[in-house]
Amino acid sequence: MFSGGLDSTAVLVRLLTESNDELRVHHIRMANREGRADAEQRAVESIVSWCQARYRPFRYSESGLDFSDLNAIPIDYLSVAFVACQVAIDTPGCGRIAVGTLARDLDEIKRSVCASQRRVFSAIYECYRARKVGEPSVEWVYPVYALTKPQIAAILPPELRAMTWSCRRPARIADGFRPCGICKPCRARTDIAAALAISA
Ligand SMILES: [Zn+2]
Repeated sequence: MFSGGLDSTAVLVRLLTESNDELRVHHIRMANREGRADAEQRAVESIVSWCQARYRPFRYSESGLDFSDLNAIPIDYLSVAFVACQVAIDTPGCGRIAVGTLARDLDEIKRSVCASQRRVFSAIYECYRARKVGEPSVEWVYPVYALTKPQIAAILPPELRAMTWSCRRPARIADGFRPCGICKPCRARTDIAAALAISA
Protein backbone atom coordinates (compact mmCIF):
# COMPACT_ATOMS: atom_id res chain seq x y z
CA MET A 1 0.00 0.00 0.00
CA PHE A 2 1.73 3.11 -1.29
CA SER A 3 1.00 6.73 -0.35
CA GLY A 4 3.92 8.61 -1.90
CA GLY A 5 5.29 9.63 1.52
CA LEU A 6 8.74 8.91 2.93
CA ASP A 7 7.75 5.74 4.80
CA SER A 8 5.94 3.86 2.06
CA THR A 9 8.58 4.93 -0.48
CA ALA A 10 11.21 3.38 1.81
CA VAL A 11 9.12 0.20 1.94
CA LEU A 12 8.96 0.15 -1.84
CA VAL A 13 12.72 0.63 -2.21
CA ARG A 14 13.43 -2.11 0.34
CA LEU A 15 11.11 -4.62 -1.33
CA LEU A 16 12.48 -3.81 -4.76
CA THR A 17 16.12 -4.03 -3.74
CA GLU A 18 16.15 -6.60 -0.91
CA SER A 19 13.62 -9.14 -2.20
CA ASN A 20 12.66 -10.88 -5.43
CA ASP A 21 9.00 -10.73 -4.45
CA GLU A 22 6.57 -10.05 -7.23
CA LEU A 23 5.04 -6.74 -6.17
CA ARG A 24 1.73 -5.09 -6.75
CA VAL A 25 1.97 -1.47 -5.66
CA HIS A 26 -1.35 0.20 -4.94
CA HIS A 27 -2.10 3.85 -4.25
CA ILE A 28 -5.37 5.20 -2.83
CA ARG A 29 -6.25 8.66 -4.12
CA MET A 30 -7.60 9.83 -0.80
CA ALA A 31 -9.56 13.04 -1.21
CA ASN A 32 -10.70 14.88 1.92
CA ARG A 33 -11.19 18.52 2.84
CA GLU A 34 -7.47 18.89 3.64
CA GLY A 35 -6.86 18.77 -0.13
CA ARG A 36 -3.69 16.71 -0.28
CA ALA A 37 -4.77 14.22 -2.96
CA ASP A 38 -3.43 16.07 -6.02
CA ALA A 39 -0.04 16.81 -4.49
CA GLU A 40 0.23 13.20 -3.39
CA GLN A 41 -0.81 11.97 -6.83
CA ARG A 42 1.95 13.94 -8.49
CA ALA A 43 4.51 12.48 -6.06
CA VAL A 44 3.21 8.93 -6.55
CA GLU A 45 3.44 9.11 -10.34
CA SER A 46 7.02 10.38 -10.29
CA ILE A 47 8.15 7.84 -7.69
CA VAL A 48 6.53 4.89 -9.47
CA SER A 49 8.10 5.69 -12.84
CA TRP A 50 11.48 6.44 -11.25
CA CYS A 51 11.51 3.12 -9.33
CA GLN A 52 10.31 1.10 -12.32
CA ALA A 53 13.12 2.52 -14.44
CA ARG A 54 15.82 2.40 -11.75
CA TYR A 55 15.11 -0.91 -9.95
CA ARG A 56 12.80 -3.43 -11.64
CA PRO A 57 9.33 -3.55 -13.15
CA PHE A 58 6.27 -4.03 -10.95
CA ARG A 59 2.54 -3.91 -11.30
CA TYR A 60 0.96 -0.61 -10.26
CA SER A 61 -2.69 0.27 -9.65
CA GLU A 62 -4.81 2.98 -8.05
CA SER A 63 -8.24 3.44 -6.57
CA GLY A 64 -10.01 6.51 -5.20
CA LEU A 65 -11.92 7.42 -2.06
CA ASP A 66 -13.49 10.85 -2.06
CA PHE A 67 -14.51 12.28 1.32
CA SER A 68 -14.07 15.92 0.34
CA ASP A 69 -17.74 16.79 1.08
CA LEU A 70 -17.40 15.62 4.67
CA ASN A 71 -16.33 17.86 7.54
CA ALA A 72 -14.77 15.00 9.47
CA ILE A 73 -11.43 13.62 8.30
CA PRO A 74 -11.72 9.83 7.97
CA ILE A 75 -9.09 7.66 9.67
CA ASP A 76 -6.56 6.70 7.00
CA TYR A 77 -5.65 3.29 8.39
CA LEU A 78 -9.28 2.15 8.09
CA SER A 79 -9.43 3.19 4.43
CA VAL A 80 -6.13 1.38 3.85
CA ALA A 81 -7.48 -1.81 5.49
CA PHE A 82 -10.62 -1.71 3.35
CA VAL A 83 -8.80 -1.09 0.08
CA ALA A 84 -5.99 -3.55 0.89
CA CYS A 85 -8.65 -6.23 1.12
CA GLN A 86 -10.07 -5.47 -2.34
CA VAL A 87 -6.54 -5.41 -3.78
CA ALA A 88 -5.57 -8.71 -2.10
CA ILE A 89 -8.66 -10.37 -3.56
CA ASP A 90 -7.86 -8.86 -6.94
CA THR A 91 -4.26 -10.19 -6.89
CA PRO A 92 -3.99 -13.95 -7.57
CA GLY A 93 -1.73 -15.64 -4.99
CA CYS A 94 -1.48 -12.55 -2.75
CA GLY A 95 -0.28 -13.72 0.67
CA ARG A 96 1.25 -10.55 2.12
CA ILE A 97 0.40 -6.89 2.48
CA ALA A 98 3.21 -4.43 3.16
CA VAL A 99 2.61 -1.05 4.78
CA GLY A 100 4.94 1.76 5.80
CA THR A 101 3.93 2.05 9.46
CA LEU A 102 6.73 3.15 11.77
CA ALA A 103 6.92 2.46 15.48
CA ARG A 104 8.52 5.82 16.30
CA ASP A 105 8.28 6.84 19.93
CA LEU A 106 4.64 5.83 20.42
CA ASP A 107 5.33 2.15 20.21
CA GLU A 108 2.31 0.93 22.13
CA ILE A 109 -0.13 3.17 20.27
CA LYS A 110 1.34 2.17 16.90
CA ARG A 111 1.10 -1.49 17.80
CA SER A 112 -2.56 -1.11 18.67
CA VAL A 113 -3.18 0.80 15.40
CA CYS A 114 -1.56 -2.05 13.46
CA ALA A 115 -3.69 -4.57 15.35
CA SER A 116 -6.89 -2.58 14.71
CA GLN A 117 -6.02 -2.27 11.04
CA ARG A 118 -5.48 -6.03 10.74
CA ARG A 119 -8.73 -6.66 12.62
CA VAL A 120 -10.69 -4.47 10.18
CA PHE A 121 -8.96 -6.19 7.26
CA SER A 122 -9.73 -9.68 8.63
CA ALA A 123 -13.41 -8.90 9.12
CA ILE A 124 -13.73 -7.78 5.48
CA TYR A 125 -11.48 -10.55 4.15
CA GLU A 126 -13.60 -13.23 5.87
CA CYS A 127 -16.59 -12.08 3.81
CA TYR A 128 -14.60 -12.86 0.65
CA ARG A 129 -13.32 -16.15 2.04
CA ALA A 130 -16.94 -17.11 2.67
CA ARG A 131 -17.38 -16.71 -1.09
CA LYS A 132 -14.40 -19.00 -1.62
CA VAL A 133 -12.06 -16.37 -3.05
CA GLY A 134 -8.66 -15.18 -1.83
CA GLU A 135 -5.76 -17.04 -0.21
CA PRO A 136 -6.33 -18.96 3.05
CA SER A 137 -4.17 -16.50 4.95
CA VAL A 138 -2.79 -13.04 4.35
CA GLU A 139 0.04 -11.70 6.48
CA TRP A 140 0.69 -7.99 7.11
CA VAL A 141 4.35 -7.01 6.95
CA TYR A 142 6.05 -3.83 8.18
CA PRO A 143 9.42 -3.56 6.40
CA VAL A 144 10.39 -0.23 8.00
CA TYR A 145 8.63 -0.58 11.35
CA ALA A 146 11.78 -0.42 13.47
CA LEU A 147 13.41 2.49 11.63
CA THR A 148 13.46 6.12 12.72
CA LYS A 149 12.44 8.90 10.35
CA PRO A 150 16.04 10.01 9.75
CA GLN A 151 16.99 6.37 8.99
CA ILE A 152 14.10 6.19 6.52
CA ALA A 153 15.19 9.39 4.83
CA ALA A 154 18.79 8.19 4.73
CA ILE A 155 18.00 4.95 2.85
CA LEU A 156 16.27 6.83 0.03
CA PRO A 157 18.41 8.14 -2.84
CA PRO A 158 18.27 11.98 -2.57
CA GLU A 159 16.59 12.30 -5.97
CA LEU A 160 13.84 9.93 -4.88
CA ARG A 161 13.51 11.49 -1.44
CA ALA A 162 12.85 14.84 -3.10
CA MET A 163 9.88 13.32 -4.98
CA THR A 164 8.08 12.12 -1.83
CA TRP A 165 5.18 14.12 -0.43
CA SER A 166 4.36 14.51 3.28
CA CYS A 167 2.19 17.62 3.77
CA ARG A 168 -1.46 17.11 4.71
CA ARG A 169 -2.59 20.64 3.80
CA PRO A 170 -0.61 21.82 0.78
CA ALA A 171 -1.17 25.16 -0.98
CA ARG A 172 -1.54 25.18 -4.75
CA ILE A 173 1.05 27.35 -6.52
CA ALA A 174 1.70 28.09 -10.21
CA ASP A 175 3.94 25.10 -10.94
CA GLY A 176 2.57 22.61 -8.41
CA PHE A 177 2.14 22.57 -4.65
CA ARG A 178 3.82 24.09 -1.62
CA PRO A 179 3.96 22.26 1.74
CA CYS A 180 2.16 24.18 4.52
CA GLY A 181 5.17 23.84 6.81
CA ILE A 182 3.05 23.56 9.95
CA CYS A 183 1.15 20.24 9.85
CA LYS A 184 2.62 17.33 11.80
CA PRO A 185 4.25 15.57 8.80
CA CYS A 186 5.73 18.90 7.63
CA ARG A 187 7.25 19.51 11.06
CA ALA A 188 8.60 15.96 11.16
CA ARG A 189 10.20 16.54 7.78
CA THR A 190 11.88 19.72 8.92
CA ASP A 191 13.28 17.87 11.95
CA ILE A 192 14.61 15.07 9.73
CA ALA A 193 16.23 17.55 7.38
CA ALA A 194 17.90 19.23 10.34
CA ALA A 195 19.06 15.87 11.69
CA LEU A 196 20.54 14.89 8.33
CA ALA A 197 21.62 18.40 7.34
CA ILE A 198 19.72 18.09 4.05
CA SER A 199 16.94 20.15 2.51
CA ALA A 200 13.38 19.17 3.54
ZN1 LIG B 1 2.07 20.51 5.84
